Amino acid sequence: MQSTKEINAKERIIAWPRMGRIDIPLKALLVSLGAKVIIPPPNSNEALEIGVKNSIEGICLPYKLNLANYIMALNQGANTLMMFQAPGSCRLGNYTKMAQKTLKDMGYDFDMVIFDMYKSKMKQTLHAFWYVTHCLNPFKYYKGFSLGFNKFFAIDTAEKMLLKIRPREIHKGEAEALYNKWLQIIDDTNSVWAAKKLKKQVIEDFNKIEIDKEKFVPKIFLIGEFFVLLDPYTNKEIEKTLGEMGVEVQRQIMFGDWLEHVLKPSLFYKKESHRERSVRYAKDYMKRAIGGECIETIGDTVYAAKNGIDGVIHISPFSCIPEIVSQNILNKVKRNEDIPVMSLIFDEQTGRAGYITRLEAFVDLVKRKKYKKQ
Ligand code: SF4
Repeated sequence: MQSTKEINAKERIIAWPRMGRIDIPLKALLVSLGAKVIIPPPNSNEALEIGVKNSIEGICLPYKLNLANYIMALNQGANTLMMFQAPGSCRLGNYTKMAQKTLKDMGYDFDMVIFDMYKSKMKQTLHAFWYVTHCLNPFKYYKGFSLGFNKFFAIDTAEKMLLKIRPREIHKGEAEALYNKWLQIIDDTNSVWAAKKLKKQVIEDFNKIEIDKEKFVPKIFLIGEFFVLLDPYTNKEIEKTLGEMGVEVQRQIMFGDWLEHVLKPSLFYKKESHRERSVRYAKDYMKRAIGGECIETIGDTVYAAKNGIDGVIHISPFSCIPEIVSQNILNKVKRNEDIPVMSLIFDEQTGRAGYITRLEAFVDLVKRKKYKKQ
């Protein structure tokens, strides 16, 4: 863990960049340890404008939005910024240092606490949380981590149920409304006992929605770069758009699932992780991970082809190096494995109309291929 400035734990007001719904579980964890937090507003055109204005042009979109999140949080009174960094050839490893320098040059005074996600995992994490809160009470850590993890799993479950039910629901918008209701309940839950029951309750509630069981619904894997997969603003609500076109989306990166693998000591992590599955399935095309989600993209596509999935949509931000590599390999994968694959690249210029037309054409192709097979 690295830090840039000593601040008394009681005076810390902590913020972190927006990524999926990490705000809900991380807030629960930090507040349980006695911290004050500020959550920057969801990504938007305003955030993008701030990020673009203060970044170098060629840097990838996640950096620009992360930087905007920091600026907005600092303007609201945050004085401690948390971020993680990862190794590999992806630029994420340099993000925090670049953002830190940019913010200092802009005149902000803050501490930046950086987790190295792949170095001694849980020990690093505990140390970082102790550092920002100075909490020594093991019961508070138990409560914070139990709340955090159970909320992560409940959000993952609600997202999966939404993706499954939305293309089949009889009354349009019902699944989305239920999802939003559960996000609020998950956010409001403050006891470990109640948090442990959330996942089951979410499934039961979604299963009450009336659906058309006979409807012809193709299944499409949504794969690619971590941030763009999890951020609906950046990916232009691709999951919702596809769901409304009658497609069941299966997103291959879920935050809780990923975090469990990254943080849990391997002794207690018994199932095959997404990374391990990807390495196994990608072996004919790629021998090792090269950073970002490159190997996951290849492995997920092969896995989809071998497991009856009807198509794959690969999404990435403009100028993302690992995904440029995987996009080139995907041409060979889709030919060899005989599965429709479409790559979409998002940047601040991406317009909605052109992107919807491409999605419609791809969904049409996938549906026709599925009809033929049947
Ligand atoms: S994976 Fe790609 S978009 Fe994401 S941080 Fe790395 S280079 Fe940027």
